Amino acid sequence: MQAVKARLLELIDKHWGYDTLRPLQEEAMLAALDSRDSLVVMPTGGGKSLCYQAPAVLQDRVTVVVSPLISLMKDQVDGLIACGVPAAQMNSSLPLTEVRAVERDVLRGDVKLLFVSPERMSVPYFREMLRRADVKTFAIDEAHCISHWGHDFRPEYRQLRTLRDEFPDASMHAYTATATPEVRRDIVTQLGLRDPLVLVGDFDRPNLTYRVLPRHDEAKQVLDVIERHRGEAGIIYCTRRRDVDSLAEKLQKRGHHAVAYHAGLTQEERRVAQDAFAKEQCDLVVATVAFGMGIDRSNVRFVLHTAMPKSVEHYQQESGRAGRDGLEAECVLLYSGADPMLWRSMLKTETSDSAHADSLLRHLNDMDRYCSGAACRHRALVEYFGQKFTGDCNACDICLGETEEVSDALTIAQKIVSCVYRLRESWGVSHVVGVLRGEDTEKIRERHHNELSTYGLLKGYTRQDVREWIYQLIAQEFLAQSDGEYPILRLGTRSREVLRGFADVRLRQPAVKKADATNKRATRTPLDDLAAYDRDLFETLRMWRRREAEERGVPPYVIFSDRTLRELARVRPTTPYELRGIYGIGDTKLEAFGDAIVHLVRGAASLE
Ligand code: ADP
Repeated sequence: MQAVKARLLELIDKHWGYDTLRPLQEEAMLAALDSRDSLVVMPTGGGKSLCYQAPAVLQDRVTVVVSPLISLMKDQVDGLIACGVPAAQMNSSLPLTEVRAVERDVLRGDVKLLFVSPERMSVPYFREMLRRADVKTFAIDEAHCISHWGHDFRPEYRQLRTLRDEFPDASMHAYTATATPEVRRDIVTQLGLRDPLVLVGDFDRPNLTYRVLPRHDEAKQVLDVIERHRGEAGIIYCTRRRDVDSLAEKLQKRGHHAVAYHAGLTQEERRVAQDAFAKEQCDLVVATVAFGMGIDRSNVRFVLHTAMPKSVEHYQQESGRAGRDGLEAECVLLYSGADPMLWRSMLKTETSDSAHADSLLRHLNDMDRYCSGAACRHRALVEYFGQKFTGDCNACDICLGETEEVSDALTIAQKIVSCVYRLRESWGVSHVVGVLRGEDTEKIRERHHNELSTYGLLKGYTRQDVREWIYQLIAQEFLAQSDGEYPILRLGTRSREVLRGFADVRLRQPAVKKADATNKRATRTPLDDLAAYDRDLFETLRMWRRREAEERGVPPYVIFSDRTLRELARVRPTTPYELRGIYGIGDTKLEAFGDAIVHLVRGAASLE
């Protein structure tokens, strides 16, 4: 066993330039080499790919990797080839001549990793080819797509159920970032895994700082985040296509080079946007959830949601695209109590299958609880995935003290609930807010609502404060809201507790600004040794990387990650030996880029 481990470490160093394994990678790799079925659950950025890539290099036969997105496949293949590992892809985007060439290479044993789409797996001719190649190892990426209970069910994944019978001698290895225990069990059943080794990694991402902020002035809040990350990469998610278009336009008008991305654009427009971001020609993308699966850019420094996503799994996956290089990054979610209402009305049309509809609703409620809750965000996310969280977070809005509990929450709640009652449960949020704040509008005067005893009870507060509290009361069931285009505020199942004065009401509001709290960063990441690097040299290296990537037609991270560039800018290596010791530099990359880097490092030194 020790000998196998040593060989693994040696080849990982040789090809990828990493000198240690991340938690669970060793166990996952040994399972693959031992032909023991496995289910590996690790958060985004945890290093799942290496778990099947490294063992594949040691195997005599090809390892088949099922991956849902064609765009992701190409980058993975390019990345492997750049590390000196023979890899190929097979999907509907390839011309027939290339398909035949790949088949030949596979049958000849010249390919270590073959990436295929789930659709391709269902083609009988293709399966026959795999049988001839005597495939003994299958890796199923994004395995949660096979589960009905998951948040991203893909019918084409169901084809994979027959693999077990058709390849009885092969071992199957499933990988996913987002599986609750229920989904986990389902993956094992659906794929027919035999006595699988189940490995569940640590879901916490200590390098991410999470913030859930009440949405009040979306454009300004978005600009604030962009400003905090000037010159860095970020993804901004919106719920609807039209929100994407209008926000992208606003940002462009402000002089930001932002591209829009959603399913309503043509395939070509989407490709151009995605390429621009992946190739670092553009640092900002405004997108719907359609964006991201194919994106492996590891130096995304912030992910901003302008509204609540529809499940914690989605949130984990989308926010997880920040800081994949392990360096500090920020995840901001702008939330309003109106978000879950909007989702509920949208989900109604999404499925006719009642079990699926229930599952969607459950996911939505869990997400809503995360946003309106006042517990540490790291803890909430980790516990959602069934794990314990220990220690101090010091990297979320709650723990950094950016929002605070309203001290007289019960009194405020009583004022709001009695106002809804006095208005006979027949008005929407906006009107109730106007009455409570004692606004002098025609509508209020006309209806004599200025004569109600609750008129002006919350005079000193902003519209935004009162509106947010109403939504927070809805989330706690002290109020309710009807469905439909013009939702009406009603009393909730727990309104009586408020009116009688024994309810445990919790309301939050932004804390009075402390000395620039938002500039605080996560402090739990051991980044100190990376902190002091030569920023000019880093920028020079970044520009060089972009040119190099353009010439080779690959995304820049395929050349080197930001982490490698930062380490280069800190250590300033000038010999091959020093270079080889840098994170992410293996033999193939040393040979390809060593001279160029030394040249840049020397050039920077001579300028000092
Ligand atoms: P996932 O598929 O789990 O989201 P990836 O496989 O894309 O994550 O890995 C995230 C990043 O971490 C990649 O850049 C990868 O090369 C890097 N990585 C993986 N394993 C290691 C390791 N043992 N040491 C250093 N970096 C690693």
